[in-house]
Amino acid sequence: MTEKRVPVLFSNDSECCGCSACYAVCPKGAISMIPNRYGFLYPMIDEVVCVRCGKCLSVCAFKKKLA
Ligand code: SF4
Ligand code: SF4
Repeated sequence: MTEKRVPVLFSNDSECCGCSACYAVCPKGAISMIPNRYGFLYPMIDEVVCVRCGKCLSVCAFKKKLA
């Protein structure tokens, strides 16, 4: 069985508006909103806490737009 990977929420800043929906929906509290160098908040997943449920990806409006 292949182990599920931790989701990649964004690969560059233009793929995330920092809306915090992923942070809010995560059932494990695995996501923290961390400021980038300009002070804008972006989500970061704690790989140890994440259970790879995928809810953060399904809630993200940007992922639906890109898909
Ligand atoms: S839900 Fe998507 S756009 Fe919103 S903070 Fe998370 S990754 Fe960024
Ligand atoms: S995959 Fe699930 S547990 Fe992991 S960060 Fe996303 S919502 Fe949280």
